[in-house]
Amino acid sequence: MRWTCPLGFSLFLIACGPTTESPSPTEEAGSPTPEWSLAIHGGAGHFDTERLSPDQQAAYRASLTLALRTGGAVLEAGGSAVDAVVATISVMEDDSLFNAGRGAVYTASGVHELDASIMNGADRNCGAITGLQGFRHPIQVARQVMEESEHVFFSGHGAEEFASAMGAEPAEAGWFDTKKAHDRYLKALDRDTTREKFGTVGCVALDREGHLAAGTSTGGMTYKRHGRIGDSPVIGAGTWADDRTCAISATGWGEYFIRTAVAHDIHARMLHGGETLDEAAERTIQDEMGALGGDGGIVGMDREGSPTFSMNTPGMFRGAWQSNGEPAIGLFATDEVEP
Ligand code: ASP
Repeated sequence: MRWTCPLGFSLFLIACGPTTESPSPTEEAGSPTPEWSLAIHGGAGHFDTERLSPDQQAAYRASLTLALRTGGAVLEAGGSAVDAVVATISVMEDDSLFNAGRGAVYTASGVHELDASIMNGADRNCGAITGLQGFRHPIQVARQVMEESEHVFFSGHGAEEFASAMGAEPAEAGWFDTKKAHDRYLKALDRDTTREKFGTVGCVALDREGHLAAGTSTGGMTYKRHGRIGDSPVIGAGTWADDRTCAISATGWGEYFIRTAVAHDIHARMLHGGETLDEAAERTIQDEMGALGGDGGIVGMDREGSPTFSMNTPGMFRGAWQSNGEPAIGLFATDEVEP
């Protein structure tokens, strides 16, 4: 396996052992083809076994497993890939461990501006919202944009008006507040900087009908400027799904994912260049996004339901489950995730 990555992570790998023999951070499951398949991420970042206590690791594993079981049950019962993505991300939005919905990070003005997007691989319909305040499940609003409007992207006040009109579940500002996110905000305020550990959530799914879908939901980056938009709600950067190729959800330093159109670039390498998902994901993450200086990763799924995780950070919370296997969880880049 090839290791091409930014200097910081190269040093991390060198410190951890020989690059030729280390397990790759890109993992792909084998055959036989499952009837349905689901994979998730809960954010990528600079965490390792030393920075994440055993208790914290156990908590993330439990939360990721719950999310997988929720979406897997939908697929098992014959639900669509879109249904599964929304159900899975809704659970993660309610879980304060993650930077989405409850637990979302604070902007520089001390509020939560939420972003989400979803795409249906069957017809490439999609929906997204950015800068949403006061609604519990941004991913559900993104789905309503996709299915109930003639548009694909709403921002701020317009997104909130649309969500209200659709009867989306409101939430008091306090619902989103957590001590963890507030402590990070205070630190960022002190340093006056947006750089932060990430925690976005994302999901890709293949249903029994053979359709793919992808979704992503986030609070963005701690201390982001009012109105800043990251990659998560940008179709083609943070989210993409096309039944001909793959479904992708990204997490990481959003500006770099937008500059390299990460999710669409992976799809385009497969469609036009004949690359496998595994190859395409690694090349986009390492040679494009990473080469510019960005960091983060993706969860992807191909038409056969094989999940792929690719990252240039030491960690990415992630998991996968297929109809013919068991839920599998990984936290660190070197973890194998075999559903
Ligand atoms: N990509 C997100 C953003 O830049 C952050 C993350 O993935 O945690 O808004």
